[in-house]
This record gives sequence, C-alpha cells and structure tokens, in this order.
Amino acid sequence: MNNPSLLPPAIEPADLLWRDGVPESQQFGDVYFSRDDGLEETRYVFLQHNRLAERFANVEPGQAFVVAESGFGTGLNFLATWQQWRASNPPRGAVLHFVSVERFPLTASDLAKAHQLWPELAELASTLQSSYPALVQGCHRLVLDGGQVRLTLFFGDALDGWQQLNFQADAWFLDGFAPALNPDLWVDDVVEAVRRHSRPGTTVATFTAVGRVRRALMAAGFAMQKVPGFGRKRDMLAGTFRPDPAQSTASGGHPAAVTLIGAGIAGCLLARNLAERGINVTVVDAGNGPATAASGNRQGALYVKLGVEHNDQTRLALSALQFAQRCYRPYKDQGWHPCGVLQLADNEREQERQAKFLQRNHYPESLTRPVSAAEASQLAGIPLQSPGLWFPASGWLYPAEVCRQALEHPAIQCRFDVAVKRIERQADHWRLVTAEGWQHQTQALVLCGGHLSGQLLPEGLHSRFKTIRGQVTLLEENTLSAPNTVICGSRYLNPACQGQSLTGATFDLHDDTPSLSASSQQENLKALETMLPGILKQPADQFGALSGRVGFRCTTHDYQPVAGKVVTGQAATDDTAGGLYLLTGLGSKGLAYAPLLAEHLADCLTNQPRALPAPLQFRIRPERCVTPADH
Ligand code: SAM
Repeated sequence: MNNPSLLPPAIEPADLLWRDGVPESQQFGDVYFSRDDGLEETRYVFLQHNRLAERFANVEPGQAFVVAESGFGTGLNFLATWQQWRASNPPRGAVLHFVSVERFPLTASDLAKAHQLWPELAELASTLQSSYPALVQGCHRLVLDGGQVRLTLFFGDALDGWQQLNFQADAWFLDGFAPALNPDLWVDDVVEAVRRHSRPGTTVATFTAVGRVRRALMAAGFAMQKVPGFGRKRDMLAGTFRPDPAQSTASGGHPAAVTLIGAGIAGCLLARNLAERGINVTVVDAGNGPATAASGNRQGALYVKLGVEHNDQTRLALSALQFAQRCYRPYKDQGWHPCGVLQLADNEREQERQAKFLQRNHYPESLTRPVSAAEASQLAGIPLQSPGLWFPASGWLYPAEVCRQALEHPAIQCRFDVAVKRIERQADHWRLVTAEGWQHQTQALVLCGGHLSGQLLPEGLHSRFKTIRGQVTLLEENTLSAPNTVICGSRYLNPACQGQSLTGATFDLHDDTPSLSASSQQENLKALETMLPGILKQPADQFGALSGRVGFRCTTHDYQPVAGKVVTGQAATDDTAGGLYLLTGLGSKGLAYAPLLAEHLADCLTNQPRALPAPLQFRIRPERCVTPADH
C-alpha cells in the first residue's frame, strides 16, 4: 500500500473513486460515509451516541472538550462536531479540541470536492480548506474560530499518532473503514491506545458492531452497548470508559492567571494564546512598549533552513514554519507580508546542500520547490545569478505591529517600563522583585525574555544560554535594487518598506556592544554584495553613515529552542498547574518558532492536548539547558 517512490516528508494521498459524487477509497475499497446521507449518519452515530449536544452545553468557561477520532478522511465528522460546538454557544475561553489521525490524507482539491456535498457546512468547510495543511507527515495544529476550535491532525499511521500525541479524550469517534477491509485500524494495540488516552467517563461510538471490536473495548475497560445502527445498518456500538480505579489516569487543572516576563514576539503571541483560552495574563517588560529588544527590527523574514535529513530538527523547523504561516495571516495592515521567500544557493556549498536536500526529500510545492536563477529573478523582480528554493507562502513581518495587535485583548494587562531584577519562590507562588518597587506575585510564571531569561532563573539553577549580537542595516531604496520577495542566503534582504530595505544580520559571538558599529555595517554591505553581486548602486565603502539596529539573540548549545516547564527541584512547584516555564533560545529564528512554541506552552499551561508530538517536545525541553547548579 505504500508508495515506494515517495520520500519523506511527503505522505501518500487518498486515492479516490467518485461514484455518484460520493468518494470511495481505492486503497481500502470502502466508502467514507453512508451513500444515503453522510451528515445525518455522522450526527446519529458519533454526535448523538457521545451525547455531544448535551455535554457541549455544559462546558464551563476556560474548559476544553476533547474529541479524538481515528480516520480524518474528508473531515465530515470534524465539521459536524464544530457546527454542534458553535450551536451550543460555548462560554468565554472554552476550547473544542479535535484530535484525528489520517494515514492517507485527501488532497486539498478532493477535500473541497467532498465538502460540496454539504452546503449547510459550507462556511466551516471553506475555513478548514484554507487552513488544511500541505500533505506532509507528522502533526499539524490548526487554530480555528479565533482559538475556540483547535484541530490536531496527525498525518501518519494511527498507532504512531496515538503513541506520539499527548491528550486525554472526552469522546472517541472510531471511524476506520469496515474492520474486514481496514484491519490495522481495529487491532488490539489501537484499542489499547484508545484506553490510554481516555479518562473515567470518556465515551466512545463507532458505526461497526463487530463482536471482536466490542470485546476488545470491553476488555480495555469500556462498558459497551449494541444499539440500532444508521439507515440500513442493523447495529452499532456505543460505550463509556469505566476503568478500575487503578487503571485511570489523573488529569490536572490549569491556572486562572499567568504572568509573562518579556514582550517580544514569543511573549506577545503566548499572551494572546492564553487570553483566548480564558486565562488572565499579565505581561511585564522593561521596555516602554512591546518588541523593544530582539523583536524590534522594522522587518523580519519568516524562514527556516530545512535539513537534508528528515530528522526531528527538520520536523520541528517544518512544523514551526507551517504553523507560523497560518498564525500570521490575520495580522494584516502592515503586520504580515506573504510575498514569498527565496533561499538562494549563493555559494557552492549551499548548491550542493540544496541538491542533496532535493534528492533525499519530497516537499509539496506549496511549501517549497527549486527554482532556476532565471525563475528566481522573475519572482524577485531583480536579476539574480543563483538558483535556489522558493517558499511561496512565506514572507516578512513587522514584528512590533504583530506584537501590538496580539496584546489587544481584554484579558491581557501590560506593565511596561518595569525591569524585573529577580524572581523569588514564596509558598505556592513566584514573587517578582522589580527595580521600580512594583509588587507582583503569580502562581504561573513564564520567562520569555530572550537572552535575559537565563539571568532571571531562581538561585540554584544553572543555565547554558548563549547570547549572539546581531546588527541589521537599513538601506535607502534608491541605493539598491530592492527585491519583491525576501531573499535569504549568507545574508537576507527584504523588499522595501517605507522607502527602506533591511539587510543583515551579523552574527557576533562574544560581543555585547549595544551601539551600532560601523564595521558591522560594512560587513553587512559586503556580504550582501557577495550574495547578490551588483545589487548595490554604489560601492560598499562609499556609503556614508547608515542607520541600523542592534539586537541580541538567545541561543542554546544545540541551536534548538527551549519551551516547557522548568524542573526547579521543589516538588510542590513541579507538580502543580502553576510553576515556572521557559520560552526562549529561539536564536535567529524567533519569528518562525514563536507561534508554534507559544501554542505548545499554552497547551502545557492549560493541560490541553499538545500541538507537538512527544519527540519534538523532548527536543525542546528546558532540562537541556537548565540544570541544578551542583550538577
Ligand atoms: N471520519 C472520516 C470523515 O469524516 O470523512 C471518514 C473516515 S473513513 C471511514 C476511514 C479513514 O481512516 C480513511 O480516511 C483512511 O484513510 C483512514 N485510515 C485507514 N487506516 C488507517 C491507519 N492505519 N492509520 C490512520 N488512518 C487510517
């Protein structure tokens, strides 16, 4: 069934046969839903037998309801569940999480074609279609309806998905194809995974009434009932998880309020994320507004370097890029500029790297594709001499504007011009000690202060962050041929904005000079001229004084970001929903990593299903860089 010619991260799409407008899987020889009335079948089998209307109506403010499904298919079940959620008028901050796995995702065009069958779902369907991920393996988190609905879509085998995803379901939709045609979605290991992701009272419904499935669910601790099936089907199964007390897993609560130190892109996106989940957020920053430090450049490019090997590092970068591209979309009015990014192969080494990258990986063109120098020139609108990779859905942003818009939420309170000197643990909370004498305490505290985060860690913890100075240079539009797209290579260059184009940045280890340096300006100009020969309309050394900006990136020994709870060694703090969290170490990829890591950290703080699969959570865990001082 696997297509051997397909390389990761691509995933084999569903091969459909359309009969009377209804899709059938050629891989499995079965229909996705009833030919009689798919939507009514979904409502009867899955919504009604999980009592969703009644349970949604009882969701409390800030609470999450988690539906898990095997077999996303056309997304019909998801859309019908979303419609029901909306109809129940959920209270402030309540979130519907829908977690689903899919081994053979539909292509975007098949998805849209299937959705035409249900005009009453058209609005939701078109929203889903515009966020539907490219067909690449792994975990995709879609944030819909202003954060009230979160879809976690794992493209891969169900067993891998259930192993890698962290969540506890309130309701299960078991919706594989018929067990005889799709045995691997009904094996005991899958049922065992369903048990692991359930808590007492979790319900389950499935269209099948096969005895083997019923017995396996009963053996796993579900009280099962055979009930009349939909349409021509005689029976179906519905049940409730009633485990032995010893088998059940506890689920934690979440804090009512969170304080963040640092109003850069990471802090602002996290604040907004938490506020939308019904949490009151206080943002503290020493600057006089958001984005006054490393996020303060007038333009920032959204790009990542995808590795030749499709390993966890590449997976994280790819997930972050896709999530960021979706996250920035609502930030219009000068916030987000999706003009595309060209990653030029401007030297031999990069040409070889890109050649290997293309040989060993298959990326959908909507994510990236190779372009010749001629095509690159056409895209950029200026003559270019190197080929490269084109990222059509990427671009640049005005980070301070995105930060400002993100903080505009009634649940967010900002305290600017407040410098936190240190934090102290007192009883069950953290106390902020500030230079201005402002008093504040909080149960849950997140350090998102870039390179200053390490200095704020409480006594007894040792951190291994590195600070790297970066200077950018602003060039007047008439001194160069500004491109229409972002161009990245050994430097980056942005399209002109308000008559200036930003290029940079230097990468200065062991240099903490905060002021602009003339030699860094020259370095940027010369590197730009080497990457894009002829781009400057006058020789680099004939430029007079140029404006620019200095920022300090925070990075780690392994150049991977840090997001998660800090193990402080104090049992009470480490076990509760409160505690100390870190979101930093984003290096020069802050704009790419911040949205996904903010989402992940908000998932952790609210104890909701995680956007990141376990291996990627492990990759960014704070323990890599923060250890007890005596270690
Ligand atoms: N719930 C879907 C909907 O609303 O359209 C219909 C699901 S369809 C009956 C079953 C789905 O399970 C198919 O999309 C199929 O590709 C998927 N599937 C089959 N085997 C799988 C596996 N081992 N892991 C993940 N998904 C699988």
